[in-house]
Amino acid sequence: MKKVKKPEWVPKNAGDEFTTRVVQGKESQHNGMPGRKSYNRKKLPRRRQLSVEDYVCGVLSKDRTILAQTITLIESNSQKHFDKAQEVLKQLLPYTGNSLRIGITGVPGAGKSTFIEALGCLLMKQDNSLAVLAIDPSSSLSKGSVLGDKTRMEKLAMHPNSFIRPSPAGGKLGGVTRKTRETTLICEAAGYDVIFIETVGVGQNEITVRSMVDFFLLLKIAGAGDELQGIKKGVVELADAILINKADGDNKTRAEIARRDFANALNYLRSPTKGWKPEVLTCSAISETGISEVWDIIKKYEKIVRRSGVFTERRNQQNLGWMHDLVNEHLLNVFYNDPRILEILPNLEKEVRSGKIPPTKAAWKLLKEI
Ligand code: GDP
Repeated sequence: MKKVKKPEWVPKNAGDEFTTRVVQGKESQHNGMPGRKSYNRKKLPRRRQLSVEDYVCGVLSKDRTILAQTITLIESNSQKHFDKAQEVLKQLLPYTGNSLRIGITGVPGAGKSTFIEALGCLLMKQDNSLAVLAIDPSSSLSKGSVLGDKTRMEKLAMHPNSFIRPSPAGGKLGGVTRKTRETTLICEAAGYDVIFIETVGVGQNEITVRSMVDFFLLLKIAGAGDELQGIKKGVVELADAILINKADGDNKTRAEIARRDFANALNYLRSPTKGWKPEVLTCSAISETGISEVWDIIKKYEKIVRRSGVFTERRNQQNLGWMHDLVNEHLLNVFYNDPRILEILPNLEKEVRSGKIPPTKAAWKLLKEI
């Protein structure tokens, strides 16, 4: 039975409208004292650990639950999981490489999620399958994921041919990069033929994403004051296409002006891809106009670069970069976790900060230790 209870404070002469319904709770078995033995914990059945074979078969049969679990395994920082993940990856490797990898970047609020939902739904209609991976290294600074709110991709998330995965919050750029590369391969092995790698445009991220994708799309909004800034920062130089979003309502003319400005600026910049002249387009992700044109450009690009060999050349180059990144990441880990370094580093840092010793001397002192 539901109990009806009046709160402690109610206006004078109040009737029943201030009463609250209280759902009868379960009696707690805790005796109020700390410690585990003081109450009976119900034994829960342990979840069976998946074997390497379970992961591999699950991914290859496009089981989205196992796919998600495999990515979690990849993202884990524990050594035990690392070894297993690498074995899974090794077995899946022959099935990878068959997707078109597309990087999508833009400042927060540019409309990335809305655009991905619109383009993603178009791809679904054309019987493509799509995995969306969101890299968000900035979340370690903001303590909240800028890309975490994926609710704007509602329709896409519900489609059986799509898979959406935000990156683990709080990761370092290096680690997130390695994991995203591996996650891309896992999604390819699962048979997704298009992969979007979405990231917030904050300088370094764009360069990282460029090193992982075949096509790089920069999302912009007109009148945000970041047009020229973007050109200065060189981000525009990384893009195979620039898309001015929110070309709707009063903003349409401004978007068109921005499109022309960017097209002009691109005349003076080098293209990031041999044999391809970057395009500038406008679209409205919200009213879904200009979306199929973006896809047409991407397909045209793919045809050109596959035929010219630039596609394969870039992937080979990216693999080489990946290898070096892995070595660098590992060496840094080994170095900073070495007991001798751990012992002397805090003091040296203090001395450099207070100007007692020059940074160069401190660096050599550290490097001589191992
Ligand atoms: P993100 O931070 O880059 O992922 O941007 P969102 O997709 O979350 O969009 C930010 C805001 O811009 C939201 O309020 C969207 O509704 C809005 N928005 C996105 N695309 C468009 C568009 O094409 N036109 C207009 N007018 N608003 C848009």
